[in-house]
Amino acid sequence: MTEPILTIVVPCYNEEKVMKETIGQLSVVLAKLIREELIHARSKLLFVDDGSKDATWNLIGEVSKINPFLTGIKLARNVGHQRALLAGILSAREYSDCVISIDADLQDDIAVIRDFILKYQEGYDIVYGVRSKRDTDTFFKRTSAVWFYRFLHKAGVNIVHNHADYRLLSKRALDELSLYEERNVFLRGIIPLLGFRSTFVTYERKARFAGESKYPLKKMLSFAFDGITSFSITPIRWITIIGMCVFLLSLVCGVYALGQRFLGFTTPGWTSIVISIWLLGGIQLMSIGLIGEYIGKMYVEVKQRPRYTIETDLYSRQIQTQEWSVSSSQEEQEKTS
Ligand code: UDP
Ligand code: MG
Repeated sequence: MTEPILTIVVPCYNEEKVMKETIGQLSVVLAKLIREELIHARSKLLFVDDGSKDATWNLIGEVSKINPFLTGIKLARNVGHQRALLAGILSAREYSDCVISIDADLQDDIAVIRDFILKYQEGYDIVYGVRSKRDTDTFFKRTSAVWFYRFLHKAGVNIVHNHADYRLLSKRALDELSLYEERNVFLRGIIPLLGFRSTFVTYERKARFAGESKYPLKKMLSFAFDGITSFSITPIRWITIIGMCVFLLSLVCGVYALGQRFLGFTTPGWTSIVISIWLLGGIQLMSIGLIGEYIGKMYVEVKQRPRYTIETDLYSRQIQTQEWSVSSSQEEQEKTS
């Protein structure tokens, strides 16, 4: 088996503080794997700039001139982690045999990239990086993550526990992934749906070494909400069940109220009326809100907008000139021989 061409995709949003270190460390790993002949010499680091407002893209541009491994894609605006990642891996698909995605802050242990490749060589199409410990995350992040996973599981969404977006995908898996046309991208939910042979590699999650998390509470909540509503209609069923329970309860209450009436207790019943109005009002509003959430999703899906727009693409330009120089040197060889 010839060595696979690997592309490591790194989405970046305002990551100027970590870029130099990240580029340095990942280049070392890549160079080492090439030297060990585990991956092809044409393997690359592909940085996706997700509409950063700082010097991230300038850094990528500058370093790509001197570092042959490094290349980049700049998105026209900030589309969020998931879509930026998708933009990167789908762009890499054409020119790679396998793709590894990793965050720019190197919280995920890059030493296991080697294990990813070994698993790929064994014939796995998907290799998940799974965190064995996440002591370095804040208490809030850890507990909210636990609840989130629990909730997803209950809602019938099949995702890999303690796995973020650190994973290897083979070309075959990427081809399949490209067929998933949804706009509400939640890769952790989609990847297990692809099927194929998959396995996992465990590692310890580290702290961000510079800069701060680009996932404020608002983004985290919307991510969690997307995760649930893009994959499961179970919440709607819960509403139905609640509705049924309330209906049964109201029957009992009706019997009670009628009994009171015929027994001659002519209390005006103000309390029960007010309580039921508020209770039902609340439940109805909740249901409408949730149904609205799904209708909103359909609305976004039917519009079929492009999920991202690439503004500058150093990557394919570089590859094309590389291919050109390879073919022209071949021609020269043929001429001389
Ligand atoms: N990111 C991105 N677009 C965004 C937000 C984040 O591309 O709108 C990138 C970010 O640069 C990083 C990765 O997504 O490489 C994960 O973000 P972060 O480390 O801030 O998330 P956390 O580890 O705190 O969950
Ligand atoms: Mg992080």
